[in-house]
Amino acid sequence: MKNMVLATVIALGLATIAPAEEPKKIMLVIHGGAGTITRASMTPEQEQQYRSALEQALRTGHGVLMRGGTSVDAVEATIRVLEDNPLFNAGKGAVFTHEGKNELDAAIMNGRDKSAGAVAGVTIIKNPISAARAVMEKSPHVLMAGRGAELFATKMGLEIVDPSYFWTEKRWKSLQHDLIKDQQSSGEKKHGTVGAVALDQNGDLAAGTSTGGLTDKQFGRIGDSPIVGAGTYADNETCAVSASGVGEYFIRWNVAYDIAALMKYRGMSVGDAANEVINRKLPKEGEGGVIALDRKGNFAMTFNSEGMYRGWIGPDGVPHVLIYKD
Ligand code: ASP
Repeated sequence: MKNMVLATVIALGLATIAPAEEPKKIMLVIHGGAGTITRASMTPEQEQQYRSALEQALRTGHGVLMRGGTSVDAVEATIRVLEDNPLFNAGKGAVFTHEGKNELDAAIMNGRDKSAGAVAGVTIIKNPISAARAVMEKSPHVLMAGRGAELFATKMGLEIVDPSYFWTEKRWKSLQHDLIKDQQSSGEKKHGTVGAVALDQNGDLAAGTSTGGLTDKQFGRIGDSPIVGAGTYADNETCAVSASGVGEYFIRWNVAYDIAALMKYRGMSVGDAANEVINRKLPKEGEGGVIALDRKGNFAMTFNSEGMYRGWIGPDGVPHVLIYKD
């Protein structure tokens, strides 16, 4: 019967018609930081601004994946959109150190071969996520910091800006607030880091994270975002993870890798593993959350804070954005 159909197809000159292809299971999940984010703390206009910024980032990454781009391409393109938006604590809009400077961290990881690249404490690279990618693809290293990372990015032809590019009034006020008040009192303190995890048409995963760190941090302080296994991790065998939260805890609890390890060694689903680490293992001081995505397109957006800017977009191209807990 099959042969007959084939013969008919060929006889009719239809042999070039391809069989209907299975739709590709692409997926992109993003976050714009976890922390003290409540309805009471935001005006409807502010909420709308965050929603449309997150949707724009989702659409950008989705476009890359639909055109056959890799998960690494999608993660980089998505995070660049968020870095360029002053709403988020990454790139333009990064928070200030105690000394009133902006020091940025970023990392990217390719789940196909576990290659990774990261930069830490950089002050003049417009898009740190692209510098992280350059470290991954064009250097023998994984993590480069400070001046060396900046020189490397300059040599790679990445866009360099004056440090004043990163100055925003909102973050400046936030620092002034923290300098005079008890640190706990700042609602701006622990959110705004951005991250993305993606699954491409080849079934490869990637993760990326970019941040200005924590307001009022000591200069030279590096958080979890650029640390592979803490704030960023991707492995096709398990999942891709990007975190946001109090970096000191996410580093010590190995948050991103621990989620992958629970999947690998205990056979947990991505949702159960993320829940175990964020809601059970981390102490209460380890406030924050993660986005995590497996190779089948299952994902988790798990946080123990009051809110997390987050969203996802699948093959249908419809962006979904959430902010609060409920
Ligand atoms: N995890 C980041 C850091 O500790 C901050 C954040 O996610 O808000 O640098």
